[in-house]
Amino acid sequence: MHDDRSLVESRLKRVLAERIRPAVYPESVPLEVGIWTAPDEPVPVAEGIAAPRTPIAAGQRWGAPWGTSWLTVSGTVPKEWAGRTVEALIDLGFDANMPGFQCEGLVYRPDGTPVKGLNPRNQWVRIAAPAVGGEEVLLHVEAASNPVVLDYHPFLPTKLGEKETAGNEPQYRLERIDLAVLDETVWQLVIDLEVLGELMAELPVDGARRWDVLRAVERALDAIDLQDVNATAAAAREQLAGVLATPAEPSAHRISAVGHAHIDSAWLWPLRETVRKVARTTANMTALLEDEPDFVYTMSQAQQYAWIKEHRPEVYARVKKAVADGRFVPAGGMWVESDTNMPGSEAMARQFVHGKRFFLDEFGIENEEAWLPDTFGFAGGLPQIIKAAGSKWLLTQKISWSQVNKFPHHTFWWEGIDGTRIFTHFPPVDTYNCSMDGREIAHAARNFKDKGVASHSIAPTGWGDGGGGTTREMVAKAARLRDLEGSARVRWERPAEFFAKAQAEYPNPPVWVGELYLELHRATLTSQARTKQGNRAAENLLREAELWAATAAVRAGLPYPYQELDRIWKTVLLHQFHDILPGSSIAWVHREAERTYAAVAAELTGIVERAQRALAGDPAAGRELVFNSAPHERGGVPAGGGRMVGESSGGCTVTARPEGGYRLDNGLLRVEVDGQGLVVSVLDLAAGRETVAPGAAANLLQIHPDFPNMWDAWDVDQFYRNTVTDLTGVEELVVSADSPAAVSIRVSRAFGASRAVQTIGLTAGAKRVELGTEVDWHETEKFLKAAFPLDLHTERYAAETQFGHLYRPTHTNTSWEAARFESCNHRFLHLAEPGWGVALVTASTYGHDVTRTVREQDHGTTTTVRFSLLRAPRFPDPHTDQGAHSFRHALVPGAEIGDAVREGYLINLPERRVPGDAEVRPLVEVDHEAVTVSAVKLADDGSGDVVVRLYESMGGRAEAVIAAGFAFAGVQVCDLLERQLPECQAAVTEQGVRLRLRPFELVTLRFVRD
Ligand SMILES: [Zn+2]
Repeated sequence: MHDDRSLVESRLKRVLAERIRPAVYPESVPLEVGIWTAPDEPVPVAEGIAAPRTPIAAGQRWGAPWGTSWLTVSGTVPKEWAGRTVEALIDLGFDANMPGFQCEGLVYRPDGTPVKGLNPRNQWVRIAAPAVGGEEVLLHVEAASNPVVLDYHPFLPTKLGEKETAGNEPQYRLERIDLAVLDETVWQLVIDLEVLGELMAELPVDGARRWDVLRAVERALDAIDLQDVNATAAAAREQLAGVLATPAEPSAHRISAVGHAHIDSAWLWPLRETVRKVARTTANMTALLEDEPDFVYTMSQAQQYAWIKEHRPEVYARVKKAVADGRFVPAGGMWVESDTNMPGSEAMARQFVHGKRFFLDEFGIENEEAWLPDTFGFAGGLPQIIKAAGSKWLLTQKISWSQVNKFPHHTFWWEGIDGTRIFTHFPPVDTYNCSMDGREIAHAARNFKDKGVASHSIAPTGWGDGGGGTTREMVAKAARLRDLEGSARVRWERPAEFFAKAQAEYPNPPVWVGELYLELHRATLTSQARTKQGNRAAENLLREAELWAATAAVRAGLPYPYQELDRIWKTVLLHQFHDILPGSSIAWVHREAERTYAAVAAELTGIVERAQRALAGDPAAGRELVFNSAPHERGGVPAGGGRMVGESSGGCTVTARPEGGYRLDNGLLRVEVDGQGLVVSVLDLAAGRETVAPGAAANLLQIHPDFPNMWDAWDVDQFYRNTVTDLTGVEELVVSADSPAAVSIRVSRAFGASRAVQTIGLTAGAKRVELGTEVDWHETEKFLKAAFPLDLHTERYAAETQFGHLYRPTHTNTSWEAARFESCNHRFLHLAEPGWGVALVTASTYGHDVTRTVREQDHGTTTTVRFSLLRAPRFPDPHTDQGAHSFRHALVPGAEIGDAVREGYLINLPERRVPGDAEVRPLVEVDHEAVTVSAVKLADDGSGDVVVRLYESMGGRAEAVIAAGFAFAGVQVCDLLERQLPECQAAVTEQGVRLRLRPFELVTLRFVRD
């Protein structure tokens, strides 16, 4: 037989597009439309419904960027439509390809109750089925004219990302607002033909099934009268029934579909718009759940539930009912789908605490899966945190975005830095926005790497990023794919059902150890520096606030600020969302984030100061108290305590060097700064060891061109390193030696349109070089780094992550290492040869790189660490990072890993001085240097119990006594949610509790108070 595939396939495409799809709504009449545009920000629903309307017709323009318009649509169902299915069709001017990235609407009844959301793939509102004729139609639409920031011209700088610069030009043209008859038979025929056409294209040409489907499609097309599709659709469907009824092969891949809308909590829209996006999508999804009995929908991010609860209580009531029915499934158990590289230990833990607690309190549900489809890489500390929160599974698909290396598994054990393993699944469909297209289903089955030992994968199904969710068309397709020859089998299932089946059939999958590094979006560790520093400062202040408020509550009876801390934690957790903290949102989001962080810092500082005043005794005594919130003693002040400290003794000198520049010396370190203000030598005097590589200079600012091929705020491409300029020009070199306790050099530089002031300082008694960098940044598409070429030979270095650190190679032997050219650290990096090492610590940055070279003159190895300070991408925020910035780092020669941990805390938690005369004993004291206190707080349940979280921080074993400086009735070992773990018994002693910890083990203790 002749091969006529392309003829039939082309015929199917044209007939579907030009005849069958248009026949879905064979009759329609226009509705009357009136419009009112809110003068500025969105208004309450009652106000929007009551506002006066002016008439508008299809074809007219509407909607300035970020505006809100209220439409009223009204009309009457024609008498002759009695018995038919009638829908309103509302096309606000949609582009079918971009649900969630353009205008959207939410439809309300006249009484203000929401009906459903409107987006390009959901333009219908059911009016009557069947109609009696003569029904009056009156609906209101809250239409958001969100501008298209990404897509038509991807990654070009745009002013649309900020309301003040976006202008007033109407963005959309009202298309169709009609009342129409839905022909359900034609609608079903469209789905039949789409499913079969898409399946056919994926089937092998030499297999019979492909030809069976092709011939059936051809017979169906022959059965259609192109001049009267509606009359002949049923006959066409009959021709397809046979090929739709043949069952899947026994070995067919099994896909657990779960309805989903990935909704970015902010991104190319501000937070306030996400509140409405969530309401639109959940209104649609609860409506779809009512219409489709097999369908299951899942939504993550407790914050989004909290938004609906507060802003759209009617929608929330529908959600609550659907959750109770087991159809609407809260997923993930985190406050938001956060970044996981940058959040500190406690913040990462609290994402789960607040997420899980919300689901428990609101729905009585405890999630066992972490749900992070879109996050940009996964830190090695995460498995232990997931487990300590009481969960055991993880889902993400993002690693499929890696540029170079293909991840070898789809289902595997992921082992973190402490040895905790989490059963992890990457959906082989390679998207969190599956649309039940045959191409996606076939890709999932083909791509699945664990064939032969496993047969299950999951497919989050529905329009995402900007919301939208699952459509009735997707549900109809899934029904046909339930058991269809040539296709994977598709079932609607809850994530937990999938994980249980996947783990049961594959109990011993392969193991991946260490971080799940995403070979893409590496610049998200640096972009929007002020947002990142706001997060860092908030995390540090939250530690202080909890510690001192708990101490003041126990010691001085000061009320503990439960509500304030709960609210502030949730704000900080929200801003760790995977497009806010990473710096990949529009200008509006980052401007708001900076303001929010400033308010958070002020409020937390107030809590700290109130608590410290309550503890410090008489402020008029003429004495001063030093408070130390770090987990290590500092200058004679115990960790978590306050002590009166006298004058510190001097011990620093600064002298001019004959060849130019200065020499700083504090008896521990001798630092040489040359005439260009570069650190050319840092001598560890006790070890007699030079830190800086011969012929090189440390604290060297370097600038690169930085114009990635796409995703400007997200990506730095490897070729950025091909061009580099050392910033060695010096305008001014000034000594500051007011007190012998501290000396410093101040170096001013100008480069491009920018300026930098670097300070290099020593403090008496401290074996660290303190480095400050102020930058007034006015560059375009540049990357600024601070380089530290060290005279050090090592295969690997340590970088801090949550509750410990991980090692990364300093070389690029394999493509995996070569692709990891920009990485994350928290407070410290540590590099060592046996017997001597160096720590680099930061209070300001996350991104860094480490490279190695061999010197010609002495064959020694130079290992260069570079902190990433600033970038200047122009999309999505055209002015990213312009203006003033301040960074603090320190170089610590002769540091062991424990010194790195300690110095990392110290630089982030400066001491506070308060007038007073009462020494403050710490609430808890630990007798082992590797056992590090991560949090001291009162229990969230308001019982007054003291909760202490600690971890082994050096990667070894430790046995320690945790002594409590207050009376207690007992000690419980708890999970992160402060619930007792019955299997863990604390060895309670008179002073406190004795613990034996594994490397990097984290433990939460609850001291039950009388
Ligand atoms: Zn996302």
